[in-house]
Amino acid sequence: MGFFQDMLSMFKKRELALIASNKEADGVYTFLFEKDKDLNWQPGQYGLFTITHKKVKNPTKPFSIASAPAENAIRLTMRISDAPSEFKQAMLELKPGMTVKMSGPVGAFSLQDNSPSLLIAGGIGITPIRAIVKQIESEGNRNGRHIQLLYLDSQKSFPYREELDVIADRASIRITYLDSRDGLNAEIVKFAGAHKDSGKYFVAGPKGMVDSIADYLQKNQIPKSNIKKDAFFGY
Ligand SMILES: Cc1cc2nc3c(=O)[nH]c(=O)nc-3n(C[C@H](O)[C@H](O)[C@H](O)COP(=O)(O)OP(=O)(O)OC[C@H]3O[C@@H](n4cnc5c(N)ncnc54)[C@H](O)[C@@H]3O)c2cc1C
Repeated sequence: MGFFQDMLSMFKKRELALIASNKEADGVYTFLFEKDKDLNWQPGQYGLFTITHKKVKNPTKPFSIASAPAENAIRLTMRISDAPSEFKQAMLELKPGMTVKMSGPVGAFSLQDNSPSLLIAGGIGITPIRAIVKQIESEGNRNGRHIQLLYLDSQKSFPYREELDVIADRASIRITYLDSRDGLNAEIVKFAGAHKDSGKYFVAGPKGMVDSIADYLQKNQIPKSNIKKDAFFGY
């Protein structure tokens, strides 16, 4: 989506009703909301979500939509610590039928062509990437694109791991689970060596991690134009 489409969709606010919530892993929670018929998004995009059932400090925050449109629901997955922000405390209070507001979708973190693609998720950065691989699963990896996912989680909790393994089988996506930057760097070097300038790189996660992985890619002669970043500020 372009800048003007993003601007337009930012003005449109809609209410989303909670269907269910669940604990995804330690300190990670998922919220599933009903999807309006006219709401569509590109896997990898995000929305701005506003708490409306009570007054909270900073009531609006960006979250990636972790579902593909074919799933017919808006899925948010977020890290929630033992001492969460007012926003996240309010999220945990939501009961089915209660609503939040959403504007968007916006963002340009999406696969666009058939290039060999390396998806790199740092921790909670798995959210936009889950949406992307779910979409590939539902469409079928028809063009036999080479898609590889490197999933780095120093806590080794890997939210969505079981589901990702099933998708990987069905959609011919190779997934490597890693708990160290050294391991990640070694996999990046292998992929970059095999695909040279034709490879595209998609990096999602907390901003510090995304920036440092992008720096590493560039140090390894990956052109900046082949790197797409989805940096979660706020962590
Ligand atoms: C495009 C985009 C997409 C995003 N998508 C997601 C997503 O899918 N899921 C998601 O969880 N977040 C996502 N974020 C980040 C999200 O918007 C919040 O900024 C983030 O979750 C922090 O939320 P919070 O401030 O409510 O606080 P909390 O997480 O409750 O944190 C409260 C305070 O503690 C600090 N803090 C939190 N964790 C730590 C830590 N480990 N060490 C030190 N300090 C810490 C925070 O900086 C904050 O000041 C996205 C951000 C962007 C820009």
